[in-house]
Amino acid sequence: MQNVDITIVGAGSAGLTLALLLAPLGLSIVVLEQGDAPHSSNINHQRVSALNLASMRVLSHIGAWPAIAATAQSYNRMQVWDADSFARIEFDAKAERLSELGWICDNEQVRVALYQQLQPHSNVRLEFNCTINSLAQSERDVLININRQQLLLSRLLVGADGVNSMVRTAMQLPLTHWDYEQQAIVATINTAQPHQSTARQVFLPTGPLALLPLPDPQQCSIVWSCNPERAAELLAMPAQQFNQALTAASNSVLGVLQLHNDPKAFGLKMRYAGSWLRGRVVLVADAAHSIHPLAGQGMNLGLMDVAALAELISEYVRDNKDFTDNRLLRRYERWRKAEAQTLITAMEAFKRGFSNSQPLLKLVRAVGMSGINQLPWLKAQIIAAALGNSGDLPKLAQPQAKTARRA
Ligand SMILES: Cc1cc2nc3c(=O)[nH]c(=O)nc-3n(C[C@H](O)[C@H](O)[C@H](O)COP(=O)(O)OP(=O)(O)OC[C@H]3O[C@@H](n4cnc5c(N)ncnc54)[C@H](O)[C@@H]3O)c2cc1C
Repeated sequence: MQNVDITIVGAGSAGLTLALLLAPLGLSIVVLEQGDAPHSSNINHQRVSALNLASMRVLSHIGAWPAIAATAQSYNRMQVWDADSFARIEFDAKAERLSELGWICDNEQVRVALYQQLQPHSNVRLEFNCTINSLAQSERDVLININRQQLLLSRLLVGADGVNSMVRTAMQLPLTHWDYEQQAIVATINTAQPHQSTARQVFLPTGPLALLPLPDPQQCSIVWSCNPERAAELLAMPAQQFNQALTAASNSVLGVLQLHNDPKAFGLKMRYAGSWLRGRVVLVADAAHSIHPLAGQGMNLGLMDVAALAELISEYVRDNKDFTDNRLLRRYERWRKAEAQTLITAMEAFKRGFSNSQPLLKLVRAVGMSGINQLPWLKAQIIAAALGNSGDLPKLAQPQAKTARRA
């Protein structure tokens, strides 16, 4: 039997970031991951995320940002338009006195960078290819049975194990979910014209298509969300026919588009755990909530969860208080639930507003979008939300946060 202070289940972006944020506190930490260790040979831009300034600040603080930025593509303009009307809105970093609006990062590179940063921390142990057989908790500990009947006793357990969280299920935490009735087709594409560091998104009647710039000036990552029938149709097409459909859907904004690798589809579901906490077990990131990728906010939201939880735990440890105190965990839950609910509501409104082709709604959104484009102060509010500069941010993610690595 081994005793540890904190067990984190899941070595995704959220789990590894949390381990790094907590490492300097000197607590004993174990990260349990069912898959392999992150590896740079898996970096292929097949799965990317648009990370915002708030996430960049957190990742900079823990020293992982330079390695992430080295393979990321920054974007300094965003163009969003409706395929079905004259609605159009544009955001420019210069107008916000910024050098970029965000970065398109390879998900695996984020994990590789975090994993590398964890190497010097002897108080953090990572177990890959790990099977969790059971979880049980008493008033004082969580008992975790892993691999071949190896037992771990942990004072706190964090479920960072993604959308199908085993921790959430084992703790019988209630889940609200609904199907967005869309699949996201993801692929890397070659573009005839350079992307010019611009992120683009067109709202089609069947769902949004995003063209996210990659480090090669003539490559983008696409996230094409559409109803399951259309997704099945697109995936069954020979590459040439897919390319034609894609080019047409993008209004040829970057000329002829061509698949660089095979497209993959992900079913899209909204998931929201009604409770993020049971005793000494707490959920973070996708284990607690998953949202539509149309605004590229899922990973950002998860990174803010772990920054918030680490902030509260650090406060307690510094004050020599018990970091497993239920009041701390409840504070975390209240804080982050409010932020997650705001985004879930916004995503739903967006999705419904743009997937409706009623003439009146089309007109309202066209006028609304064009109106926003003419109103600098309203655009500034929207841009602040997209940059991650709005809401109740953890200290490390706030605009004035120092981004140097903690000693
Ligand atoms: C198509 C698409 C596009 C997206 N685009 C964006 C974007 O542009 N910007 C953005 O911010 N977000 C985006 N997201 C969301 C983002 O990908 C997720 O929010 C983020 O990756 C979740 O990170 P996580 O660490 O919570 O979970 P995951 O990355 O899923 O990590 C969970 C880890 O837990 C492990 N695990 C699971 N079960 C167990 C178990 N029983 N035992 C041990 N380990 C376990 C898994 O192997 C995995 O390594 C997108 C999502 C999709 C589907």
